[in-house]
Amino acid sequence: MSKQTETFLQSVERTFDQAADLVGISQGLRHKIKVANSTYTVRFGVRLRGKLYTFVGYRSVHSEHMEPVKGGIRYSPHADQDEVEALAALMSYKCALVEAPFGGSKGALVIDPSEWEVHELERITRRFTQELAKRSLISQAQNVPAPDMGTGEREMAWMADEYKRLNPDDLNPWACVTGKPVNKGGIRGRVEATGRGVQYALREAFRHPEDIEIAGMTGSLEGKRIIVQGLGNVGYHAAKFLSEEDGSIISCVIEHDGAVIDDDGINIEELRAHIIANGGVTGYAGYTDDSAACLAKDCDIMIPAAMEGVITKSNADSVKAKMIIEAANGPVTFTADQMLRDRGCVIIPDLYANAGGVTVSYFEWVKNIGHIRFGRLQRRQEERKTNLMVDAIEQMVGKTFPQNVIDELVAGPTELDLVRSGLDDTMRAGYRVISEKWHSDERIPDLRTAAMMISLERIMDSYNSLGI
Ligand code: NAD
Repeated sequence: MSKQTETFLQSVERTFDQAADLVGISQGLRHKIKVANSTYTVRFGVRLRGKLYTFVGYRSVHSEHMEPVKGGIRYSPHADQDEVEALAALMSYKCALVEAPFGGSKGALVIDPSEWEVHELERITRRFTQELAKRSLISQAQNVPAPDMGTGEREMAWMADEYKRLNPDDLNPWACVTGKPVNKGGIRGRVEATGRGVQYALREAFRHPEDIEIAGMTGSLEGKRIIVQGLGNVGYHAAKFLSEEDGSIISCVIEHDGAVIDDDGINIEELRAHIIANGGVTGYAGYTDDSAACLAKDCDIMIPAAMEGVITKSNADSVKAKMIIEAANGPVTFTADQMLRDRGCVIIPDLYANAGGVTVSYFEWVKNIGHIRFGRLQRRQEERKTNLMVDAIEQMVGKTFPQNVIDELVAGPTELDLVRSGLDDTMRAGYRVISEKWHSDERIPDLRTAAMMISLERIMDSYNSLGI
């Protein structure tokens, strides 16, 4: 889509250049950080259906200023080197911004998963893992993949298992990938982490009325009309949480086969069930096949959560959203971004907005290396201490706490509570620093440039400490 105008990689690099001009960085280091350190293309054969099929996979390592490097693996028939390098670069900037101690990487397998049976996908994934492992492109100490478009817990479990077979004497084999099922070393709250992070990011944005006013809005998320593009992992969770917990109205969902419109608010659970049963939104109440017109529908907030390059210079003028939060990577091209900004639209950029996934992946990796569930040691001790305090207060004032308050107060934190707390803290802190940066200097045009500047400054400092 974007490839006819500016490629995804060009868009990321133009944002980088704009930020680098403002940061003031030596030409040498600027070039070093901008380009990918390496990109491997692997081609491997798998015998399936009585025939040998050759598959093409990529793993790009953008920056190794911190190791391991981290980034998802997507399964997509459209994946190519340009896309993988753009995504790997975004991972470096994203990790630096949310202080996840990783460099950036990304991978892809050129495949349409819907064309293969589950047992075939497993064989392909295991062969791909072997190719990656041979080159240390999957390793708990050097390169840690995660799910992305077209992959999920299932693929991560296969990868971890294959890596474990190849490295039977490794003490921490489960740390080689994140986004695994909980019964295979995963962490509670990872599946929904990116969508949950989008919700927390929006909540924090609405705690900054000055930013919300620039977008032409007031008040809270309650009653705000939202268009969501892509009801996959990220889009589904963001839409579900915002509608169920914040009172936002999901007025339109755009999917690969059309869109659904309901100005009173779409029931996200019902629509998701319809998509799972039917493979798309076709046939659901309020269905239209005119997805392009839906991007131009009136709304307060748009959440592109499908893919890159969906808002370009050819349709940016028609987009009416007051705020866009980039749940997907690279949905708004560099040129479209400028056009939207000129008419007052505030864009919460991908490198911050969808960082919830890597944040919780970081917690999962720490859990795998620590070999213990978060909260396991302290939960009951905290429960006991709070019980003591409640008893003491009740004795002193001669009154009893309502039971529902006691239940909440006394329960020590579960792993999920701690994951959510860490994610919320990360998303709040992230928004605060980029908003502050944006308003600190009138030459900084928007949140995206501010976020990129912060990432760049941190990576620059890291390289400088290494003496590079
Ligand atoms: P997914 O495969 O679970 O979902 C993608 C959804 O988009 C699917 O429902 C698909 O049908 C839909 N879609 C595909 N083409 C479309 C089109 N032309 N128009 C509208 N919808 C279309 O993928 P995901 O994991 O939710 O990832 C979505 C985006 O979020 C990607 O850009 C990915 O890089 C980014 N992201 C994902 C994670 C994560 O944890 N999964 C983390 C960070 C960023």
